[in-house]
Amino acid sequence: MKIVADLEKCEGLGMCEAMANDYFEVDEDEDQVNVLDDSPPEEDRAHVYAAVQACPVLALSLTD
Ligand code: SF4
Repeated sequence: MKIVADLEKCEGLGMCEAMANDYFEVDEDEDQVNVLDDSPPEEDRAHVYAAVQACPVLALSLTD
């Protein structure tokens, strides 16, 4: 599983960080997300997926 962030779409709204701050951090200077670990273990899939789904501009996706 890999987290993919489309930084062209990201507006730094921080929903992903609010849902999973162990994987996402918003850079407040750039208003863009940093993915702290883009290869989560399988056991974290539901946790990461919830954060991906929370992005209002659909900037995040998960690949297998
Ligand atoms: S929720 Fe979406 S727009 Fe907001 S920081 Fe995360 S990736 Fe960017």
